[in-house]
Amino acid sequence: MRVTAAFSRLLRLSGVWVRAVRFEPGRVVVEVALRRRRLHCPLCPYTTAHRHNAQTEESVWRHLDLGVWRLEIRARLRRLSCPRHGVRVESVPFARHASGFTRDFEQLVAWLATRTDKSAIARLARIDWRTVGRIVERVSADELDPARLQGLFEIGLDEVSWASQHRYLTLVTDHHRRQIVWGHEGRDAATADLFFAELGAQRARQLQAISLDMGPGYAKSAREHAPQATIAIDPFHVAKAGSDALDEVRRAYWNELRQSGDKDAARRFKDARWSLLKAPENLTDRQAQTLRRLRAAGGELWRGYTLKEALRGIFQPGLTIEDVTILIDRFISHASRSRLEPFVKLARTIRKHRDGILAAVRLGVSNARAEALNNKVRLITRRAYGFHSPDAALALIMLSCGPITLSLPHELHLR
Ligand SMILES: [Zn+2]
Repeated sequence: MRVTAAFSRLLRLSGVWVRAVRFEPGRVVVEVALRRRRLHCPLCPYTTAHRHNAQTEESVWRHLDLGVWRLEIRARLRRLSCPRHGVRVESVPFARHASGFTRDFEQLVAWLATRTDKSAIARLARIDWRTVGRIVERVSADELDPARLQGLFEIGLDEVSWASQHRYLTLVTDHHRRQIVWGHEGRDAATADLFFAELGAQRARQLQAISLDMGPGYAKSAREHAPQATIAIDPFHVAKAGSDALDEVRRAYWNELRQSGDKDAARRFKDARWSLLKAPENLTDRQAQTLRRLRAAGGELWRGYTLKEALRGIFQPGLTIEDVTILIDRFISHASRSRLEPFVKLARTIRKHRDGILAAVRLGVSNARAEALNNKVRLITRRAYGFHSPDAALALIMLSCGPITLSLPHELHLR
């Protein structure tokens, strides 16, 4: 077998034949030519037999490594004149438009990005993290199910912070399929309006329930675009509000201790953060011991802790809607008389959203599995912090938690 024929079989690049192979320091360079006669516009389905002229420089793509060798594909392409897009370099079947990588290479990197950390990918693939971001964007745009906004009945609107404390993404979850189906930078009513605009009035009218946090932004947009849908407040957000209130109480208490000069106690209570905020069944032995000390000490910190746990307990599985109603009202009454400002405030918020919270429990809209998706989104979002744009972060979220099944190159070639 000739070397060029052997490389044709090795590379499995669709629609090309190998003209030449040469070894350079650290890399193998493979020159290929397209099999097809017709020229395809890279931006639309337009094809033509007429060639405008030829590229002056070769195009180069990085392909999957060959053992320890970097593999470079080169081709001199033709240019066509598209009636819509003007003079363009023809597209190739084995690489996406404007990419310096083959589809196989991008597929591998995208798959890795959904499963492993930054430094492992950069080292294995020998590309920097921003390049990973751009690859993830291209693969996501290509593989996202275009029908993902069809057949939505119960959805959730949620925010996640990206890159820093002050940048946010809004994500829309399909509760039935437990997937993220839409996302955009921002976290206010205007961001939600963008979603409803893309969804369209007809599909918005099919929505039966929309779960939200307790903020005013999304609710305003949801009421306007889908007035028939039941607004449900995610118990997840309610329980989190309890943790936030407790954390405020703890911080105030800690500052008081520190200012009083009791350095030892101050340090003890700073460490107490996780003992207080984690669910008691998830505490380490040491954290459980700290919690016992806090209980013995009593006072406002312990009062806050029992309120936070009572609120969390309301949403444990197995309770009837009647149970939950009684427990919520009891919580509101206890919290508003607690003399702990963050909990008094929380009692007011929960009273205001009582109907929405009960609606969520009745509909079973939010459950442990929704929370699992939520945790996964947060993990992936943290990994996307180093990306250059919110669109790249969103693309990674969609690749990991959206309606996409990513295959590895060898799985694609088996099909
Ligand atoms: Zn075109």
